Amino acid sequence: MKKQIIIAGPCAAESAEQILTSITEAKKRKVNFMRMCLWKPRTKPGFDGLGEKGINFLIQAAKAGINPATEVLVPEHASIVMETLFRAVPDAQLLLWIGSRNQNHYVQREIAKVVAKDKRVTLMVKNQPWASEDHWEGIVKHVLDGGISKERVILCHRGFVPSDANPHNYKNVPDFEMTRKIKKNTGLPMLLDPSHIGGSARNVLQISENARKEDFDGLIIEVHPNPKTALTDAEQQLTWTQFDEVIRGFYNP
Ligand code: PEP
Ligand code: MN
Repeated sequence: MKKQIIIAGPCAAESAEQILTSITEAKKRKVNFMRMCLWKPRTKPGFDGLGEKGINFLIQAAKAGINPATEVLVPEHASIVMETLFRAVPDAQLLLWIGSRNQNHYVQREIAKVVAKDKRVTLMVKNQPWASEDHWEGIVKHVLDGGISKERVILCHRGFVPSDANPHNYKNVPDFEMTRKIKKNTGLPMLLDPSHIGGSARNVLQISENARKEDFDGLIIEVHPNPKTALTDAEQQLTWTQFDEVIRGFYNP
């Protein structure tokens, strides 16, 4: 399949200024969706997203012609985003995703049921944190059980929690052999998330380079107007110039 789905933008929506700058930069590039999460699962309590009050930023992006994307933690998040966004911008396209830590199959299926109701929404599903082909295929089955059509589901590899051997000091370790199998067995597009694999901008650039010859259908990358000041995942967010470097390599392996 052609490499075609590019999702880029900040880890989390933070402020009006950050979102406006990100929209301006995204508009200069071929970005299919801009990530700007409203809900953030955190290891420890801290900034965990703007929640519903950030939906205005998704609307602002859609009005500017940039399709927004956010993780949702529960079906109610999906409903409120869909309802509010499409009321304001009926011709928008929206990407919602189920994150790696969200491993309750009841919640996964209920989110898929909500998304299934509206063809303007694509659902992305990330792999679970621990390495298991069986579990990953299971998530896909639970999601499809929610009645969503396969054409509107995409997968994403964000690596697995490292066991002992982690010579490059990655945040999560990729398994390209497993992603090839999952892609083949499910018949679904597979994106790569070098940001949550790498954990640092340097690693993100390196992983993107290592993955050039792999058959990924797209990328989701964290890009921030000023990475140092980011409220979440500051170390791994790229500048837009670094993003351009990754994209050049992705299309010219
Ligand atoms: C994210 O995409 O911001 C995120 C939290 O990633 P993951 O679910 O892969 O940990
Ligand atoms: Mn992040």
